[in-house]
Amino acid sequence: MSQVFDLLIVGGGVTGSALLYVASRYTDIGHIALLEKYAAPARVNSLHSNNSQTLHCGDIETNYSLDKALKVQRAARMVEHYATTQPDIDHLIFRYPKMVLGVGERECELLRRRFEVLSPHYPNLRLLEPNDIARIEPAVAFAGGRRRPDEIVALGSESEYTAVNYEALARSFVRQAQRGGGNRVAVEYNQRVRHIRRHHDRFLIETGTTSFQARSIVVCAGGHSLRLAHDLGFGHHYSVLPVAGSYYFTPQILRGKVYTVQNDKLPFAAIHGDPDVNVPGKTRWGPTALVLPVLERYNWETVKDFLRVFQFDRKVWNVLFDLLKVPDIRNYMFKNLLFEVPVLRRGLFLRDARKIVPDLRYGDLRFAHHVGGIRPQLIDKEHRRLMMGEAKIDTGVGAIFNMTPSPGATCCLENAEVDMRAVAAFLGATIDEQRFERELLIGDHRHVIGDLPAYLISGPDAA
Ligand SMILES: Cc1cc2nc3c(=O)[nH]c(=O)nc-3n(C[C@H](O)[C@H](O)[C@H](O)COP(=O)(O)OP(=O)(O)OC[C@H]3O[C@@H](n4cnc5c(N)ncnc54)[C@H](O)[C@@H]3O)c2cc1C
Repeated sequence: MSQVFDLLIVGGGVTGSALLYVASRYTDIGHIALLEKYAAPARVNSLHSNNSQTLHCGDIETNYSLDKALKVQRAARMVEHYATTQPDIDHLIFRYPKMVLGVGERECELLRRRFEVLSPHYPNLRLLEPNDIARIEPAVAFAGGRRRPDEIVALGSESEYTAVNYEALARSFVRQAQRGGGNRVAVEYNQRVRHIRRHHDRFLIETGTTSFQARSIVVCAGGHSLRLAHDLGFGHHYSVLPVAGSYYFTPQILRGKVYTVQNDKLPFAAIHGDPDVNVPGKTRWGPTALVLPVLERYNWETVKDFLRVFQFDRKVWNVLFDLLKVPDIRNYMFKNLLFEVPVLRRGLFLRDARKIVPDLRYGDLRFAHHVGGIRPQLIDKEHRRLMMGEAKIDTGVGAIFNMTPSPGATCCLENAEVDMRAVAAFLGATIDEQRFERELLIGDHRHVIGDLPAYLISGPDAA
């Protein structure tokens, strides 16, 4: 293609497709392209089966601070505003009851205190006592035909949108961008970007078969984003720790999403059980958290991509050593390793899942083969820490790189907003603010984008 694109997006997951949509709908950026290496959008972490399908709103994620919770709430509302105005709403977004369950005195007390802090900001949030839990999720409240003996309380709501098919959402974004953008929008599949170079004020993007040119680029390629950033000479102070998540299925035991309280010493969210929007009649459990040397789950060809981006050195070792020093993290990593071992895994996972449903039986659990993706967690070598949540490298020269572990799918439109603003400023393009606010924010002025820390810093994870 000899055409020079004003904006070229790499990666057609929910992050890249959301940017394609907002840039084509709310800006006057001239020519926009999206390059995706597979034959369709959202084949990697945004695939319907590879994530937990949760629309994280911040109210039941006990590992979020109030500030983080409210930012995620704003992001979730943007997805809700988009999805509920689409003709195929029934394929995009779903209502289920949701709750975070506290078991034992300490967790119940924590949830009661959290309710005081959160309820002014979440009008639908309820403190659920055992009777309420028994009404909404009987399997959680009963053990052996009687009320379970341990103290339980939950925070939750019953009638909100709580689940999203992020694969369907990505397809919808692409479709709408193509429909509304006409000739301004080009979408190219089967184009794997191998190198990005800078030549004067242009970026040269090489895919092996074709060379594209662009004035600005946004790379939304999951863990591969960091490899492409390194290729262009940015982000060498980051390495990546890919953390896979696996799931189990049981017959349908839960009506909605039941999360558990986070152990605050652990970097990853505790397991939960919920319906799978594409697998009726089952409850899905997980995700586990297993460190694997690949950038895409079940794609061993990405081992070499991982090795290129991991760049193991003393600084990476220091971060890993700090993590392994903490007994809770060490035990948790070991346990998650065992969660993958056939025969052993079912029994071990059962112990954790019984915190939610005490009567769950060994025979109920089935390992979900080929289900679950990879969370590309960044290692910040300079600050000697593992970063949780999404991360962004904005080079300031018209190239942005997004790394998007959970809750990256929930934050797709908000992340797209940040990038749209940065790219529009760089190119001197105009944003139709009124239309953007009318369609995606709907009067939600809290935590407007100026308050956001541009995601150069990280937030916590909640898969
Ligand atoms: C187990 C698990 C559970 C999760 N649960 C949740 C949840 O409940 N809620 C939530 O909000 N988030 C959740 N997440 C996170 C969420 O899945 C991701 O944040 C989101 O899918 C990221 O979307 P993305 O478009 O950035 O990346 P991806 O979906 O991974 O898309 C990246 C795209 O880039 C393409 N690509 C890669 N390299 C190249 C290249 N060189 N050239 C061209 N294209 C390329 C890929 O083919 C892919 O299509 C979960 C993640 C995991 C792993």
